[in-house]
Amino acid sequence: MIRTENVVKVFSGRGVEVRAVDGVSTSVNKGEVVVIIGPSGSGKSTFIRCVNGLESFDEGHVYIDGVDIADRKTNINKIRAEVGMVFQQFNLFPHKTVLENLTLAQRKVRKRKKSVADEKARMLLRKVGIAEKESEYPSRLSGGQQQRVAIARALAMDPKVMLFDEPTSALDPEMVGEVLDVMKQLAREGMTMMVVSHEMGFAREVADRVLFMDQGKIVEVGTPEHFFSNPQEERTKLFLKQVL
Ligand code: ATP
Ligand code: MG
Repeated sequence: MIRTENVVKVFSGRGVEVRAVDGVSTSVNKGEVVVIIGPSGSGKSTFIRCVNGLESFDEGHVYIDGVDIADRKTNINKIRAEVGMVFQQFNLFPHKTVLENLTLAQRKVRKRKKSVADEKARMLLRKVGIAEKESEYPSRLSGGQQQRVAIARALAMDPKVMLFDEPTSALDPEMVGEVLDVMKQLAREGMTMMVVSHEMGFAREVADRVLFMDQGKIVEVGTPEHFFSNPQEERTKLFLKQVL
């Protein structure tokens, strides 16, 4: 479903070059959940942004469902419509109600009729447990509720894969669980997911594979059992000691 080959992203400015992503090759098969962990600045966000074309890259390939997103013949907007993305900051449209947040792209991009888009939006709001908030504005919701709206909004497009970049790290601790529960449910339903997260409990419970990144590279890959009971690389051990 997702395949990357030797992706390199270099940021340069004022004479310094940062190889934020330094040759990352990996894949996420249909229905798989891959969790990416790693220290701050290791390139996790940059990599996941390369995967959905939010960030251009300097070398390598990203294939979504077999389509090369860097190919000039590829319609990147069409690809993005297939890839749902949820960020640390919820990025909801502040001047739209919850329901409008969920219907806007459905109508503009998917060209759905209002009644169809509304029905889909309400179904998803029920699914994430905030049906009663459809007429509220985002600023009147808690962080956990806003993030659940953001997830529902991404799902409204019927994405083939969902990418999450630290979806719970801006939340107050008591709201982390409600967002992780929605993500766990999605995983159980077979959604293909790539998740950057510091939530080791989540990784242990839902990941099919865990990738550990450091300095732009994948240092170690394995099942959660491998990672949490028998990591091989020194850098992985050191990182896990700090976060567990
Ligand atoms: P965190 O856990 O703190 O979110 P991360 O693993 O997501 O970190 P990235 O945000 O991908 O790390 O950053 C990787 C490297 O690229 C860092 O050295 C960062 O300073 C650099 N970087 C990221 N974005 C830019 C940018 N727009 N311009 C220049 N350098 C950047
Ligand atoms: Mg990041």
